[in-house]
Amino acid sequence: MRVLAVGAHPDDLEILCAGTLARYAAQGAQVTMAVATNGEVGSPTLSKKEIAEIRRQEAAAAAAVIGAEFIWMDYPDEFLFSNQETRLNFLNVVRRVRPDVILTHSPVDYHPDHRTTGQILWDIRVMTTVPNIVTEAKPCTKIPEIYYCDTVAGIDFTPQYYVDVSAVFEIKKQMLGCHKSQSVWLQNQYDMSYLEFIEYTGRYRGLQCGVKYAECYQLSPTWPKRFEPVLLP
Ligand SMILES: [Zn+2]
Repeated sequence: MRVLAVGAHPDDLEILCAGTLARYAAQGAQVTMAVATNGEVGSPTLSKKEIAEIRRQEAAAAAAVIGAEFIWMDYPDEFLFSNQETRLNFLNVVRRVRPDVILTHSPVDYHPDHRTTGQILWDIRVMTTVPNIVTEAKPCTKIPEIYYCDTVAGIDFTPQYYVDVSAVFEIKKQMLGCHKSQSVWLQNQYDMSYLEFIEYTGRYRGLQCGVKYAECYQLSPTWPKRFEPVLLP
C-alpha cells in the first residue's frame, strides 16, 4: 500500500490528515508527504528565502515523525497556478510515488493554493497512466483514488468517510508541533492556536462518528460504475 498526501503549504497535512497518515504508517504502508508551495510569506520579519528554508526543515521533521518520505515542490506561496509546467511536475511526483491513494485538499477549501493543489491532482489523475504524456518518472500502471481532506475548520465540508485518529492524536500533535515558526506567526497574525485548532476540529469530527478524535474525507468525483439493475441496493 502506497499513500501520497499533497498539501499546499507546510503544515496543511499535519492539520488535516496527519492522524490518518500516522495510522497508514503504523500499518506498514509507504507514506509520502509532498508540499506544493514553500510557505515563504509566513513570517513578519524574515526574508522569503529565510522563512522558506525554516519551513522546509519543519515540514521534513514532521514527516520524519512517522517515517514518511518527504517531497518539497517549492512553488511560491500564494501563487500556485494550474498550467502545463505545474501539471507535468505534479504528474511526475505522482508517478514517482505510484500511490494507491492520494490525500489532498478539497476543491471547496478557502485558500486558492489549497484549491489549486486539489484541482491539479484531480485534473492529472487519469493522465498518470498515459504513456504519451512523458515525465521523468514512468507512467503508473493504475489510476490512483483521490480522497479530499476536510477543509480548514470544516467549513462547507460534508464528510463521506471518517478515520478514527484517537489513538494517534498525540502523534498528530507532535507532527504539527514541528512547525514552530508558524505557531508564533499564527498566534500574532490571526490570534489562532494550532493545538486548539486541531483539538476542536478533531473532537467535532469525532463527535459525528462516535469516537474521541477523527479526520474526515470525501472521495473525488470518479467515473460512474455500472450496476446490474436487479443488484441495485
Ligand atoms: Zn495552507
